[in-house]
Amino acid sequence: MTTMSSPKPQASLSTPSSPEELTVVQSDSSRSAEPTRVSSAEPTPGCSAEPTPGSSRDMPEQPSSSGSSGRRINLYADEIRSQWNLFMIFSTLGTHEQCIAFAEQQGLLPTSKMCTYHKQPMKLTETTCHGQVGKFSCRKGKCRNKSYSRALGTWFENSRLPLPLIFQLTYLFSANYTYELARKETTHYRETVVSQATIADWYSYCREAIVVYHLENEDNLQKIGGPGKIVQVDESKFGRRKYNRGRNVEGHWVLGLIEDGSDDLRLEVCPGNERNADVLVGLIKKHVQEGTTIHTDFWKGYDCLPEHGYIHKKVNHSDPVNKFVAPDGVHTQRIESHRRVMKRLYAKENYKGNFTEWLIEVMWRRKIKINHLDPFEEIIKCIKYVYK
Ligand SMILES: [Zn+2]
Repeated sequence: MTTMSSPKPQASLSTPSSPEELTVVQSDSSRSAEPTRVSSAEPTPGCSAEPTPGSSRDMPEQPSSSGSSGRRINLYADEIRSQWNLFMIFSTLGTHEQCIAFAEQQGLLPTSKMCTYHKQPMKLTETTCHGQVGKFSCRKGKCRNKSYSRALGTWFENSRLPLPLIFQLTYLFSANYTYELARKETTHYRETVVSQATIADWYSYCREAIVVYHLENEDNLQKIGGPGKIVQVDESKFGRRKYNRGRNVEGHWVLGLIEDGSDDLRLEVCPGNERNADVLVGLIKKHVQEGTTIHTDFWKGYDCLPEHGYIHKKVNHSDPVNKFVAPDGVHTQRIESHRRVMKRLYAKENYKGNFTEWLIEVMWRRKIKINHLDPFEEIIKCIKYVYK
């Protein structure tokens, strides 16, 4: 067992992509429903303290406090305990056998396979070799010499890493550990030396799972707004930096949409990197119900919104007195705040990869934080979806 310092990743990390960043500017809005951080003293009412069903936790049950006065505090303690942390990863997914059991329980590894020829269940041979997850084979007739790796099509396919290490890296990604910190936690895992490249690989597999999950499930998102409701919409360019003089940094147009009184921020990378009416209205229609009052700046791309069933109000960003508040009180302050944070995050990250993927990951982390979800459970959910 590796020695571990078991840091609280959320608190001790200085990684630029820490989700903390996303709430820094929230204080400007009294309507903000941004929940308090997990480490704060107040439990959030309505926040589920139940561990997600199906998750495997061998943690001992804490005795629950009796009496109604202690109930909420106790729920809060449960909530903290129910989150995966590095200690739980090491202790409950520390051996090959534990990992196999977890993977089977989570549906990350199949437990049976039919022989398509004999229409009978094949036999699972558990190989005890390092990192192996076993083979399915049919012992009948002409099938006799055939076998199929159980890893086929799973999260573990084509990997030579020990399973505990795979789960550690998956956890470290979900908890937003930097490469450097991830390496500190995993270096010299038993006989395996974990290289930066290995960490980068697994981080990119995790990111890919999030992206695929997001792209294939975003159609299920409910539209925001509705009659009598206000949605703030703002387009913004990411990645264009003043000090990049001489270098052609094009930047990416991103449309942000948020309903007043909600934290359900939607961000879309503008197709073709355009912000014309077609693109903007298309994205707005994708996310916002008809009849909604939409607040935007004076960009002409929004002028046709009333033709599409929306009530449109404009905000004057160049008003020197208060650049966010128009004479009738219309403002896009909240979206501006989000945008500022996102931009800062993007500048700090200096992310070299695909911008859309970066944005999807940032939004994934934001959703987890706001809804008090467990990052490890959420990444497992994505992996399960992609590698089903
Ligand atoms: Zn067979």
